Amino acid sequence: MKLELDDTFTAELPADPVTTNNRCQVVQAAYSYVIPRQPTSPKLVHASEETAALLGITKEEIMSQAFLEVFSGSTPLEGAAPYAMVYGGHQFGTWAGQLGDGRAINIGEVFHHGQRWVMQLKGAGETPYSRSADGLAVLRSSIREHLCSEAMHHLRVPTTRSLSLILTGDEVMRDMMYDGNPELEKGAVVCRVAPSFLRFGNYQIFTARKDVENLKKLVDYTIQYFFPEIKTDGKEKYLDFYRRVMEKTVNMVIHWQRVGFVHGVMNTDNMSVLGLTIDYGPYGWLEGYDPGWTPNTTDRQTRRYRFGYQPNIAFWNLMQLGNALYPLIEDTEPLEEILNSYGSIYTPAYLEMMKSKIGLFVHEDGDRALIDDLEQMLTFSETDMTIFFRQLADFDPTIDIDLQGKYLEVVKDAFYEANGKWEIIASAWQDWFTAYQQRLFKENIDLKERKKRMNEVNPKYVLRNYMAQLAIDEADKGDYTLIDKLFTMLKQPYNEQPEFQKWFARRPEWARHKVGCSMLSCSS
Ligand code: AMP
Ligand code: MG
Repeated sequence: MKLELDDTFTAELPADPVTTNNRCQVVQAAYSYVIPRQPTSPKLVHASEETAALLGITKEEIMSQAFLEVFSGSTPLEGAAPYAMVYGGHQFGTWAGQLGDGRAINIGEVFHHGQRWVMQLKGAGETPYSRSADGLAVLRSSIREHLCSEAMHHLRVPTTRSLSLILTGDEVMRDMMYDGNPELEKGAVVCRVAPSFLRFGNYQIFTARKDVENLKKLVDYTIQYFFPEIKTDGKEKYLDFYRRVMEKTVNMVIHWQRVGFVHGVMNTDNMSVLGLTIDYGPYGWLEGYDPGWTPNTTDRQTRRYRFGYQPNIAFWNLMQLGNALYPLIEDTEPLEEILNSYGSIYTPAYLEMMKSKIGLFVHEDGDRALIDDLEQMLTFSETDMTIFFRQLADFDPTIDIDLQGKYLEVVKDAFYEANGKWEIIASAWQDWFTAYQQRLFKENIDLKERKKRMNEVNPKYVLRNYMAQLAIDEADKGDYTLIDKLFTMLKQPYNEQPEFQKWFARRPEWARHKVGCSMLSCSS
């Protein structure tokens, strides 16, 4: 396996890289050189051929010993100097000080087909930023990260990618629900891939340290390599940067709301400055449409990171990024002006996105109200988000909207509690469907074309919470076939794929309140 390493970013490894005791407080630095830990007996569980191709790695090479060695952390890439980055962050609304890549190590950067990619091992041992933790990751959370990163990509949601999922052969102690029941679990390493893993927290840490010199260096570097479209200079350049990060963040969150993804831990250290979904921890997928839902049990009290609040949190996080950039601008007014434009960017883009989900494309004055009412209705009767929007494409606006509820048949599979309540549901939805029917007549589009366009934004298959858990349960017993099946299915989330029809179904009742399905902690 021969990778085109990008030597702009590789450096001579210092004579004394941190090898044994990786842990220390780090000052006046953006990163530290670290050697990944030796896995005892690495074994490849799964790899993404698509992500491999980005790096110039072929299918055959994936199966090679060299691949296993490099991406399990056992053999360093020749000429590369692995490093971990420092960052800080606000966790659950409170400044947490220095954090950093506590269990992520950048093992090298590849330049392939005009694009630079950083390869980052997650779970390959301690770094100077591990604080009191072990730098390791377990199989269950690694399966979740690997499957979901790639699923998100195929859903066209901006995201970091996942190359490989490798068992280390080592055991890791975890108290999965933080309830005093620690157990040994299988250790694993995922290799994540992205143009950059820079987070809001990477900038915040320098401002917190009053280290304006390094803050400026990092922002200049970011703009030079990742925001080449910015042509301005001086303070204007930094304001343009802030504006672009905001636009990218808005775009990412709107995609989340479109597919029903709940990140679960939108701390500022988990916000990519490139607007990529990053750090797949206790994330979840909406099944019943509920803006108040979060899968993260660690956030159960305040539900800060609930589905419907994600746009607000993105705004709050951007405010913190603005604070971090302040020393380069030294004037709050233009920063506030940009921040205050958040709503005027988000609101119309969200409306357009929601309209496209119900097949509306021209402008009509009442559209906002129609979408608001729809969201209320979806919450009123527990309604499966994915099934509802996908099936709505079959709604024929020429049908009679009467109390028998025949008009609602197309979406009936989406209702969780329809048994014995069909008439209540049918009458409750009558007003909304009447308005929708009227509204559809204003569109210049036939049924077939409407369905086609709706199916491009409403996925048929998402990584439902219980599906990942089933794959984990099997993998724990050494069977990885379900990982591969789900992976294959999620590569084409908008296609019908009749062979996978059984996954186009409401969440089974057993999964409603099950650990790993609807309840996840940050333990990983
Ligand atoms: P997260 O909630 O996963 O985004 O992690 C928050 C911070 O804790 C980050 O700085 C991580 O690098 C660090 N962290 C999480 N788990 C571990 C671990 N097992 N070992 C070392 N650092 C960790
Ligand atoms: Mg994180």
